[in-house]
Amino acid sequence: MTAKSDWLSFPDAPRIVVPPPGPRSRELLAEQARLETDAVGYPHYFPIAPKIGQGATIEDVDGNRFVDWVGGICVVNLGHRHPRLVAAIESQVQSIWHTLELPTEARVRFLKELESVLPGHLRNHARIFFTVTGGDAVETAVNLADHAQGKRGTVVFSGAYHGVHGGVVNLTSGRRYHATSSFGGGAVIRVPYPDPYRPVLGADEGAAGTISYLEHLVNDPHSGVDTISSVLVEPILGEGGYVVPPDDFLPSLREFCDRHGILLIADEVQTGLGRTGRMWAVEHAKVTPDILCIAKTIGGGVPLSVVAYRADLVKELPRGFHLGTFRANALALAVGAETVKVLKEGDLIDRARVRGEKLLKQFHAFSGRHLAIGDVRGKGFMVGVEFVRDRASRLPWGDRAKAMRSALLARGVLMHTSGAWDQVLRFMAPLVIEDELLDRGLAAFEDALMSLESTPERTPPSPPATVPTSPMTHPHVLPEHAYPTPATPDYIPGRTQEDEDPPH
Ligand code: PMP
Repeated sequence: MTAKSDWLSFPDAPRIVVPPPGPRSRELLAEQARLETDAVGYPHYFPIAPKIGQGATIEDVDGNRFVDWVGGICVVNLGHRHPRLVAAIESQVQSIWHTLELPTEARVRFLKELESVLPGHLRNHARIFFTVTGGDAVETAVNLADHAQGKRGTVVFSGAYHGVHGGVVNLTSGRRYHATSSFGGGAVIRVPYPDPYRPVLGADEGAAGTISYLEHLVNDPHSGVDTISSVLVEPILGEGGYVVPPDDFLPSLREFCDRHGILLIADEVQTGLGRTGRMWAVEHAKVTPDILCIAKTIGGGVPLSVVAYRADLVKELPRGFHLGTFRANALALAVGAETVKVLKEGDLIDRARVRGEKLLKQFHAFSGRHLAIGDVRGKGFMVGVEFVRDRASRLPWGDRAKAMRSALLARGVLMHTSGAWDQVLRFMAPLVIEDELLDRGLAAFEDALMSLESTPERTPPSPPATVPTSPMTHPHVLPEHAYPTPATPDYIPGRTQEDEDPPH
């Protein structure tokens, strides 16, 4: 039992004083809807207006207090307004905020802190490239790999999400900018991610199918692939549905890359900085990438991202190889250095690993009692719960996962979906979350499951899908028409909750 005085979070969360969205939230949501582009998504998924964040909780403008299992999509691994991060940013606020690329105390402190926690051989043998967003870091990493290799060709995996900035450089007219971008010609080679629940390359659940396919791409002169410079991989698929690959995947991928002189880029934008119960997810597999992409929690909520690369990768880079006015903002660096220090010095990461294992068991226990849960997987505080219409066909049930998201919101717990069909609810609470809040969140989760089970479905379940028989496919990879179409938003400002699709 945590002593109340030790709590970072609001100890009385979840606390619903008015069904969300409350009246003040509705006003702000309506103003936002009037003034801002209608392209925003989150106000539809979580129709509340946050007022104050504290640890693993958020209070909205109506006084509701939510247990935050979203954590800004792995941005606030140390929780909202961690006292040490608040102190770091307050102190930096008093000196300087923006210095372009000129060194500051904060910048050098950050570089040293980050260097001290890099995985494997990158530690003390890396150089750091500052960027601003996760997509920016990934794009820079690919450009860097291609520059080092003197060729193009990036292997990426199905289900992968690396950001959306890729095309923007094509909108800029200068040739010198195009020359350092890999995204003009689309030299992208897509390969299925080894997904144990939905394996594509045969029924083999290890990484062998993926690796032999990659070998084919390299060795067969008719494979259609001319050159490969790098393989870009998420150690666990994030937006793709919290898919944990087989244990041999990353080591086999490392070997494959070494065999063929291909660079391995790890995108740890979502998995990094303690999320999976290790500082870096690649550490579970004892694999060191040549290039590592870091974002989200590294700025603790202030925009900052980083590419760490093997110092011997390139002799020298042309000055201005990558640019961006806001790279390495001093406020972000002050928070970033302290973030790394807190993670390095404390036991938060070990606790996420141990508590995460218990959490997996707890979610597994739900799947024993509730048929809609088809799969539970994860590492540390990165746990996915996949909803299926029936366990035999594994037909994804995105509507149920989204109905769960709404049912959890009504119970004061924030939890978001992922996966191609929004069929996976993902647990990504701040690592600082108190045990009591985990227990209360789990109780709300099962309560939400039961309430949906007792609500009649408005739409009839889809007919069972045809099971393909091709040897290259797996019974659980269904024909495209069998899957539900992507979802519509849950909440439209101006409409009442009662107008919404009831949970189904
Ligand atoms: N890579 C991964 C693995 C991500 O999860 C994300 C964002 N969810 C990105 C890259 C892109 O980051 P950003 O949104 O900061 O561009």
